[in-house]
Amino acid sequence: MPVTELTGFNGPKRTKLGEGYFVTWRVTWHSSEEWVARMLFRVLKFRPGEGISPPEGPKAHPPTPTAGRDEEYFWEGVRRGELRIQRCGSCGELRHPPGPLCPTCRSTERTHVAASGEGVVFSYVVHHHPPVPGRETPFAVAVVELPEGVRIVGNVVDCRPDDVWIGMPLRVTFRRADDGPVRPMWAPRES
Ligand code: ZN
Repeated sequence: MPVTELTGFNGPKRTKLGEGYFVTWRVTWHSSEEWVARMLFRVLKFRPGEGISPPEGPKAHPPTPTAGRDEEYFWEGVRRGELRIQRCGSCGELRHPPGPLCPTCRSTERTHVAASGEGVVFSYVVHHHPPVPGRETPFAVAVVELPEGVRIVGNVVDCRPDDVWIGMPLRVTFRRADDGPVRPMWAPRES
């Protein structure tokens, strides 16, 4: 069993999120009598809603995903209404998120396939706080398992966050969040 010690309690401090306290604790793992690993963990405990508000207005939308050379094929697919999965050009293994190297055979050759667009909730969270520009809270974010064998993270839409469940069948849908780019999201589907 790890040993947890409270090692710091500082505040109240004024932060952008609101007034709060920095709480620090140290966790130590032992093997017999000897300690083998330590972790220092610090969090800000604050009262929500008292800090500086996020920017409002028509320009406010969730952060834009990056589209470098490794991801460009994915966003090109989104613009065409296609959910693309990266595929190794040598061994054929599918992978997501995209990357420059196959984790199995180390090949840098890569191509992609179009997914069926179906998936099921593997895991999910309901986001209540902090506020996200251009989004109304609460909203659900799921790890979606695709029948092709990879998992992808996305928002669940067209249902209340309380109605999301693990194993829930979903279908991809391409939506624009305010004036932000179109992105893949997930809606309930009849199984
Ligand atoms: Zn490979």
